[in-house]
Amino acid sequence: MAHPKTERTLVIVKPDGIQRALIGEIIRRYERTGLKLVALKMLIPTEAMIEEHYLLDPNWKKSVGEKAISSYVKKGEKPPSTDPIEVADSVVVSLKKYMTSGPVIAMVWEGGHAVELVRKITGSTEPRSASIGTIRGDFVLDSYQMADTDTRAIRNLIHASGTVPEAEKEIPHWFKPEEIIRYHVPHEATLYDVDMKGILE
Ligand code: ADP
Ligand code: MG
Repeated sequence: MAHPKTERTLVIVKPDGIQRALIGEIIRRYERTGLKLVALKMLIPTEAMIEEHYLLDPNWKKSVGEKAISSYVKKGEKPPSTDPIEVADSVVVSLKKYMTSGPVIAMVWEGGHAVELVRKITGSTEPRSASIGTIRGDFVLDSYQMADTDTRAIRNLIHASGTVPEAEKEIPHWFKPEEIIRYHVPHEATLYDVDMKGILE
């Protein structure tokens, strides 16, 4: 197994994140953990890129639908549909509109448990229920209910890969291998070297 310090994850600052002037804040939150930014670009995605991105994982449709339905059930409310695939099909349509509405910033972050750490800092999908201290919990307020009422995607500022296999598929979808830079930063020695050598004179 590869050392966890080599793990990489994809982050996209969605169009609302850029409009809200949160680029710096978002990068700061990931950067200060010790994770290393190894690729970054601004672009306006096409609808095809978004559809392909969300369908890279064949199980995504079922999981996105089930998550939405269970959030309604938990609150004692009636979901708009009880078929997860039907819910997911309408989410894909909404996501294509949302994600192509303006520029986004795509990034690759590398370091120990990058996928899990970035998800923890980002917070859960629905900002309404995302914990305080997470980006989605601190900077935005959207909900399944508001998104469904207006037939649109949940505006939650960020995409972050959900699992290591998902990251491994998503990164090449957004970046060519030569766009990912291999380099060192000094604090990696403190984070990862086996011995803490070279501190004392
Ligand atoms: P995450 O981005 O937290 O990994 P998902 O992969 O489940 O969440 O969903 C992808 C994106 O689709 C979400 O970030 C959100 O913008 C949007 N979304 C998910 N579920 C719904 C829904 N039921 N209604 C509207 N938009 C949704
Ligand atoms: Mg996801």
